Amino acid sequence: MKLDETILPLLYMLAAIGFILAIKWLNSPATARRGVIVGEIGMLLAVVGTLLRFEVVQYQWILVAFVLGTAVGIPIAYIMPMTAVPQRTAFSHACGALASALIGTAEYYKGINQGPALTSVEMTALIIETLLGFLTFTASMMAFGKLQEVLPQRPITYKGQNFVNLGVFAAAAGIGLALIISPERTVLFPVFTVLALTFGVLLIIPIGGADMPTVIALLNSYAGLSASAMGFVLNNKLLIVAGALDGSSGFILSIIMCRAMNRSFSNVLFGAFGQLQTTVASSEARPYRSASAEEAAQILDSARNVVVIPGYGMAVAQAQHKLREMFDVLTKRGVSVEFAIHPVAGRMPGHMNVLLAEADVPYDKLREMDDINPEMANVDVALIIGANDVVNPVAETDPKSPIAGMPIIQAYKARTVMVIKRSMNPGFAGIDNDLYYMPNTLMLFGDAKAFVSSLVKELSAIARAA
Ligand code: NDP
Repeated sequence: MKLDETILPLLYMLAAIGFILAIKWLNSPATARRGVIVGEIGMLLAVVGTLLRFEVVQYQWILVAFVLGTAVGIPIAYIMPMTAVPQRTAFSHACGALASALIGTAEYYKGINQGPALTSVEMTALIIETLLGFLTFTASMMAFGKLQEVLPQRPITYKGQNFVNLGVFAAAAGIGLALIISPERTVLFPVFTVLALTFGVLLIIPIGGADMPTVIALLNSYAGLSASAMGFVLNNKLLIVAGALDGSSGFILSIIMCRAMNRSFSNVLFGAFGQLQTTVASSEARPYRSASAEEAAQILDSARNVVVIPGYGMAVAQAQHKLREMFDVLTKRGVSVEFAIHPVAGRMPGHMNVLLAEADVPYDKLREMDDINPEMANVDVALIIGANDVVNPVAETDPKSPIAGMPIIQAYKARTVMVIKRSMNPGFAGIDNDLYYMPNTLMLFGDAKAFVSSLVKELSAIARAA
């Protein structure tokens, strides 16, 4: 019985089913854990299957890679804080894309030096694989550097930039085409590699650090497509399937993120968004009202229903556990508390959901933006915690605003709005928030965790006194 024809296809098919089910189950928090487990089992089957391909495996090197990978991977998983997940993901993409590009390179030279010669279909797949692999490698490393702030976050732009970028990409694609037509012109391959690597760097330079999560979702897609192309080169069906899943899901995710920000792809990639962030928006003094934790606690305690709207500031302050305590105290006092989640609150998709789940906030208390907006007018208190752009009414009222048309959580409709943040400074989009100056709004100045902590103390004191 030949392994290649029996056990291997079966293992690979089960692995592919595992990946598909994982994506399906990751769709809902209720089934997400199951999704992670089935995805891990799928990956295990894929690895076991590949280890059984005796003709391509050298176990001593696999063992070295296994030990090194484990030694690096486990500490990274434990040390990385949640807020650093975007850059960790960028780093993983860089590694995956580099692996794919290096395999493509090895296959190219193997075909040239040892044969059999690569067919034009294989060469096309190989060129796509290496082009996407190399450019995703440098682009992801640049994205990592910007998010980790080892590189300047602000977009760097210059005149004719898009022209230069397009030129470099066209040159790489042109040389790639020449290689497909005559693979034996080996001198072209290093030039092609350098151009692809350079394009990756140039692609990221004009993009601001805060736009990186969207770009990372796109790079995820490129890395997936590169792996899928590698599947054609290596004649490995599982790679084709897994790469295509990765490529399409990354692409869909980036579309969802762009829609939720009302931005186009071209605006994210070429818009140099986030430049404004370095300058504090409108310094024009407009009156606003602020309140203390004691006053805010009184208002919360006398409310019938409270909708908490978390944002990036909650993630930075790690206020989710204190928020859970506040939820418990208020619920015990008979106040209905729900959480309104904007699709791009925070800095990565699902950021708020993950943090609130970490603090064991009951999942049925989380409401999606479209679901809760029609009810906002009946809400006694909208309590905004470190969110800014996602509740800014300017998105609905000012067509010239950078966030015009971005769907928002309509906190302004609530009877009372309370906003916990440290100052009047703008958020990611760098613009002033009209909500802060509305007559029904109270600013609660302070670090989100510290302020919610004070609220819990005050609410507990009210409960004890009652
Ligand atoms: P914003 O970036 O608009 O605002 C966050 C606010 O949190 C700031 O105004 C800041 O005000 C406050 N803050 C920061 N640190 C603290 C702290 N320790 N305690 C209390 N408050 C704090 O965040 P939103 O979540 O409202 O919006 C997300 C933005 O990010 C959107 O513009 C979205 O388009 C963008 N984005 C989101 C992505 C995603 O996938 N989620 C991806 C890419 C971009 P102050 O300094 O005064 O405290």
